Amino acid sequence: MRFECGQCGAALSFDGVRSTLCPYCASPSIVERPASSEKPDPVFACAFAGDAAWARVRLDRWIGRRMIVADPALRRARVEDLKGIYLPAFLYSAVARTDYSASIAEHYTETETYTKTDEDGTKRTETRQVTRTEYRPLSGEHLGYVTDVIVSASAGLDHDTFARLEPYDLRQLRRYAPALVSGFIQEEFSRGADECLRVSRTSAADAVGDELRRFLPGDGYADLDWRMEVQWESLDPVLVPVWVLALRYRPDRPPVRVVINGQTGAVVGTVPLSWWKLLLLGLGAAAVIAAIVLLVLYLREPPPV
Ligand SMILES: [Zn+2]
Repeated sequence: MRFECGQCGAALSFDGVRSTLCPYCASPSIVERPASSEKPDPVFACAFAGDAAWARVRLDRWIGRRMIVADPALRRARVEDLKGIYLPAFLYSAVARTDYSASIAEHYTETETYTKTDEDGTKRTETRQVTRTEYRPLSGEHLGYVTDVIVSASAGLDHDTFARLEPYDLRQLRRYAPALVSGFIQEEFSRGADECLRVSRTSAADAVGDELRRFLPGDGYADLDWRMEVQWESLDPVLVPVWVLALRYRPDRPPVRVVINGQTGAVVGTVPLSWWKLLLLGLGAAAVIAAIVLLVLYLREPPPV
């Protein structure tokens, strides 16, 4: 069965899974839709490392550390509220050839002679060590491999959240087969290869820039200028596993959402704060400060005669 969420736009297919709410935004406005032919088919997929109970253990551990201020609604979440989703993404790799030029800094120390005037007016000549910097030009070619760049093609999960869920161990990618995803929700590709290729190249350029800065010799550099050319690019549609808990625990608030990397168990989310817990914490802190102030005042009082 294929559905589309009217709220976040995620295109989902459920196979052996039932859900009346969008797993990403807990919106009830999911409608059945016809199959679309122009969406890419995944070539590789990364499997889930465990079931919903496995994800629940990670979630509980994560909530536990935040329980002091977290809203109790999170604790009440049921295992069934956790939805396993195969998220669409593109895996990019390339060889990057970079021509660069820079001024490389070398520090050296020199002994400097200077005149010092004492308090009584006598002048003395003294020496001191000073550090100076010399620049020399350097240019060349650098060859780097860009691998493991994953760009999300999901409509349900925003870029930032996905980036915080990374990394995935891509050595465990296997060839996609429908049997692999059965029992899970599969999200379809909402972003095209062209758009993801542009994002991948930007991300690759950042990675190459970082590598280049580490690779430059000397004590520092200035005027770094570089041009990158990519060769042997490849872009493969892949599916990666995520667990999503989306709860609309109060009708007047946006849903709370916690996302778990289905392979590593990394958890990303924001805890809805409970106002009364925060108030109690604040009052408690104020009481402690007041007690300290009173104690200090009492101790400073002159002893009774
Ligand atoms: Zn949605």
